[in-house]
Amino acid sequence: MTNKEAFELAKQVMPGGVSSPVRAFKSVEAEPIVVRRGFGAFIEDIEGKRYIDYMLSFGPLMLGHRPDVIVSKILEALDKGTSFGITNLYEIELASLIVKATKVIDKIRFVSSGTEAVMSAIRLARGITNKPYIIKFDGCYHGFSDSVLVGAGSGVATLGIPETPGIPKEFASFTIVFDYNDEDALEEAFTKYKNQIAAVLVEPVAGNMGVVLPKESWLKKLKDITKKNDALLIFDEVITGFRLSLGGASEYFGIEPDIVCYGKIIGGGMPIGAYGAKAHIMDRVAPEGPIYQAGTLSGNPISVASGIGLLKTLISDITIYDVLAELMAYLTYNISSMLSQKGIPHKINEIASMFTVFFTDKDVIDFKSAKTSDTKLFGKFFRNLLQEGVLIPPSQFEAWFLSAAHTKDIIDTTLEKIKKAIDLL
Ligand SMILES: *Cc1c(COP(=O)(O)O)cnc(C)c1O
Repeated sequence: MTNKEAFELAKQVMPGGVSSPVRAFKSVEAEPIVVRRGFGAFIEDIEGKRYIDYMLSFGPLMLGHRPDVIVSKILEALDKGTSFGITNLYEIELASLIVKATKVIDKIRFVSSGTEAVMSAIRLARGITNKPYIIKFDGCYHGFSDSVLVGAGSGVATLGIPETPGIPKEFASFTIVFDYNDEDALEEAFTKYKNQIAAVLVEPVAGNMGVVLPKESWLKKLKDITKKNDALLIFDEVITGFRLSLGGASEYFGIEPDIVCYGKIIGGGMPIGAYGAKAHIMDRVAPEGPIYQAGTLSGNPISVASGIGLLKTLISDITIYDVLAELMAYLTYNISSMLSQKGIPHKINEIASMFTVFFTDKDVIDFKSAKTSDTKLFGKFFRNLLQEGVLIPPSQFEAWFLSAAHTKDIIDTTLEKIKKAIDLL
């Protein structure tokens, strides 16, 4: 079967042929591929064509596809059963690994996705502070739940959807949206909504409008202003957790949030999410406290075992972070040189092992500036790369990722392919 034939079948039984919107490759106007398998830094479609993968399932695959350390751990857990609805030892081990690595949390609750993690963190913040409003930032994505889809990044940004039908205006009215990196607006909000703001929710490095770095003074401001106003600071580290460093963005920037959300990497490619905080906050969650949150498959043994395989590898060899940062710098430096040689305006935002090539001449510091990018040109770049056998995220407003499976040789091969893709722009 060809990709096209399979995708036609998919479209008959799944809306848009996909289980999540960006996968339809719409904004880049490309024919979607249908995947057969992945190995290391590569994925292969059902026609047998191979691609060097910089999408990496949108971030979880820090070691690449199906590394032995994760596969063996999954098989070990699978041998004992797939789900119990009862606390298992793998859960305790993964919780301990995360708590120890991140330093800023004492306890953690597992859920099944990043969406659930953020949704639960917001409920916790509202439950503790007894206040209704949350502040979020334009272009940040925190999953698809009702309160956080306003001004959202990721697929919402990619498809240019201003508002989603199905969310009553009243629900969304409790979410206040500001520009990323804008310090002044915050003061005004805390004056206007005095004693009504439960939390400030932020991607400490934005990954869902493309990579946008926080001004350090701004992150500090978020910390200070929440503290001063008895609001909670929620770091959505679904992408940055264990991606920037073992302690995520809070360690990287030395800012301590009140609640941290995780997902993606901590499941090593299996469905997962989690939220954690100091004990006095987490002990307000049921059954210890009154704030209810639950999940039939939460703490699923296969997902947590997969996460253990990945996290243990990172913890036992933290040089991975330096190696990846160096390879990424080499890759982005060369991409930038090639684009410059062709006279193509661009800005590359990068940190640790994630980056985005924006086709704009403006500094990208928030969603407004990200949107100055030439998305038509990005679409062409994406299609040219796909043709050459390089898979990057199918949107200008997503992050590219590197994994430990991306060797210097693979990067050099990528650069040759990128050169061809740029020559054809
Ligand atoms: C991916 C993502 C989410 C949502 O996670 P899902 O597992 O897709 O529900 C939330 N926040 C951020 C920052 C993300 O990147």
